[in-house]
Amino acid sequence: MTEAVKGRQKEISIKSKNIAIIGGGPAGSLTAYLLAKEGANVTIFEPRSTERGGIDEGKPCTGCAGIIQYGAIALLSSVGLQIPEEVIKAHLKGGTTIHLQDDVAISMPFTEKHAIAVYRGWKPDEATKSFDAFLLNEAIKAGAKHVQAKVKNVNLNRENGKVSVFSEEAQVVNGKKSAIAMSKHDIVIGSFGHDKLFDSIEYPKGAKKVEKPSTIKTAVREIYLGKEKVNSLVQDHIHIFGNPTDNVWFALVAPKEDYLTVTIMGRKDIKSGDFAEFYKSKQMMMLMKEDVSSAPIKCSCSPSITLKSPTYYTVYDEIEDSISIVFIGDAGPTRLKKNGMFAALDSAKHIAYSLIEFGNTKKALHNYEKYINAAYVRDNTYINAIFYSMDFFLKRKKLLKFTEYVVNGNFPIASKLVLNIIDHITSGKQPYWKIPYSVMLELFGGKI
Ligand SMILES: Cc1cc2nc3c(=O)[nH]c(=O)nc-3n(C[C@H](O)[C@H](O)[C@H](O)COP(=O)(O)OP(=O)(O)OC[C@H]3O[C@@H](n4cnc5c(N)ncnc54)[C@H](O)[C@@H]3O)c2cc1C
Repeated sequence: MTEAVKGRQKEISIKSKNIAIIGGGPAGSLTAYLLAKEGANVTIFEPRSTERGGIDEGKPCTGCAGIIQYGAIALLSSVGLQIPEEVIKAHLKGGTTIHLQDDVAISMPFTEKHAIAVYRGWKPDEATKSFDAFLLNEAIKAGAKHVQAKVKNVNLNRENGKVSVFSEEAQVVNGKKSAIAMSKHDIVIGSFGHDKLFDSIEYPKGAKKVEKPSTIKTAVREIYLGKEKVNSLVQDHIHIFGNPTDNVWFALVAPKEDYLTVTIMGRKDIKSGDFAEFYKSKQMMMLMKEDVSSAPIKCSCSPSITLKSPTYYTVYDEIEDSISIVFIGDAGPTRLKKNGMFAALDSAKHIAYSLIEFGNTKKALHNYEKYINAAYVRDNTYINAIFYSMDFFLKRKKLLKFTEYVVNGNFPIASKLVLNIIDHITSGKQPYWKIPYSVMLELFGGKI
């Protein structure tokens, strides 16, 4: 190795950097795991723990939803992480059934092997290990330091070359958290989902502020039906509903051992009463055979989902020639109106690999931005066109009936085409803008 190369490696090495990761959800924990494995000095701020429960401690849910599609399982496996059986609540090998309208439904096998159902939070099912806790523990085992505290403020005005992170004091005194703790870092990675911390970032004079993702409120419930009933009604399928009620535009029902996970998303924020209306919808009554409104609720929460990704999600300090803050997962650009787990892990892997390859440099940032813009930000322009056309389609029963007829194998090429389009929209494995191209290529046996 030449002196020049040695010098360059020393200069760009991430090992000497002190990195703060704010948020230990899937995105933050995977980044922490990858960077800590590389020898970087990583601190991950995450208020949740197995002892303390969730960020909204006292509220009944800390993130009950959790369908992990094959792409995310494969991504974790590609970096040496196998999801342990004790974390998995159900293997979903059957495929997806899409309830289009009334009695019109299409069933399709998973094109990518299988999906799994997991618990995301540490509660309420304490007997089962949490998926998020598993990833955070892997980061800690790789050498990351976990500060069990919520970050209150970030100051990007560097002092002695460092950015400041102000967090709740980790220790709890007399049941109350004491004063604010401050720590100094070379780079901050924002992986705190849709938390309001965005409003508490202080920028250097003249620096352009990052954009916040624009969001809408959704709702998730886990309802108890018992394993036998769950198996007989939904088997190992993911059930998706298009336009089941006036306000609920999309719903998902999936098995989780004794429970059913029910997720609803509206045209506007979800409001009380939307679950009851969904349970009474024709499609849901056909699947459940009865109104399940009175089934015991094990867990319930109303998280938000991204409608529009930020287009400006990094801050670079030209004077220090360093990355100050970069956003990943739901805090940055993500797959819009979709399950964002794959996107969260994908952005985590790309920021970690960019930093490992190029160090704390502009090149690392450009490398990350180039990928994320093509894979996620560009979808901002396409998403509404895709969803308006879906709306047009879902309101027309004759068209749906015809689609059902086509998909049932009556026109093999057309059937494959329609199934591929549906698979791409439901799995979210590709950017929306790439779907027409991917579908055509697959139709004629090509590989993407
Ligand atoms: C209703 C609903 C259902 C969903 N269902 C699925 C699904 O079935 N499958 C799927 O793949 N995806 C699903 N998603 C999307 C998925 O949950 C997210 O895309 C994914 O969790 C994003 O991961 P993340 O790490 O970026 O953020 P998060 O998972 O939101 O993690 C953020 C972390 O930051 C921590 N945090 C927040 N504020 C602070 C702070 N100030 N200081 C320190 N830490 C902080 C939180 O405690 C949390 O652990 C669903 C989303 C919604 C809204």
